[in-house]
Amino acid sequence: MIHRVFVTCVVAIAASVPVQAQDFYGSIADVKLLKPEDAKDAPSVPAPSGAIVLFDGKSLDAWTKRDGKAPAHWKILDGGILQVEKGGDIITKQKFDGKFKLHVEFRVPYMPKASGQGRGNSGVYVQGRYEVQVLDSYGLKSQNNDCGGIYSVAAPKVNACKAPTVWQTYDIEFQAPRCENGKVSEPAVLTVHHNGVLIHDKQALARKNKDKLEIVTNTTAGLGGDPCSPGPILLQDHGNPVQYRNIWLLPVKD
Ligand code: MG
Repeated sequence: MIHRVFVTCVVAIAASVPVQAQDFYGSIADVKLLKPEDAKDAPSVPAPSGAIVLFDGKSLDAWTKRDGKAPAHWKILDGGILQVEKGGDIITKQKFDGKFKLHVEFRVPYMPKASGQGRGNSGVYVQGRYEVQVLDSYGLKSQNNDCGGIYSVAAPKVNACKAPTVWQTYDIEFQAPRCENGKVSEPAVLTVHHNGVLIHDKQALARKNKDKLEIVTNTTAGLGGDPCSPGPILLQDHGNPVQYRNIWLLPVKD
């Protein structure tokens, strides 16, 4: 009888324990840590009141495949974790415009044999158009295509990455482009905190092309379309089993 009670308790505890990184990604014991906290998960931040919960750990009802029609197909794992599944990006059914805050938690696999853009690649595309890169860029001198980079537009001010397999957070404040007569008059602006560290401060989505400042209305592999129209949140499938949890968006009044 005692044995049976004990077994029941163990099973109950096991069922409630979130899935550990090692279950998927193996050990990071051979990763040279720059500081001990780089191996500690960033705290999970619940949605504040008024936020739109995009992924609550239970269902992908708020999402579709990239075509906006077929049901989203990524895996939901124990512990409220969403894992990239090969076969394409996913997008929110809802589209967003104006000003908002987006919170995303993610972790990247440890892929010691891979390098560059093949190492834990995914991405968070705001309005489906502007990618904040997700990648294992731990310990690197960050470029604009590394983790925290606004892809091909701006490198993060500092490399705020945690080690692979460790939970990280993005807090993205977004201002959609301003438009006049159907044309972008002022580019989108992004402020990004990565693991609580400011990595982009009111970064305008524009880049120098020779002497001219060119407004960016889509980054590589984004959805494009009319930059003056609302767009979804897109999570990228780049062939690596990156994981997400706790995704929410808070509209901000202008
Ligand atoms: Mg990417």
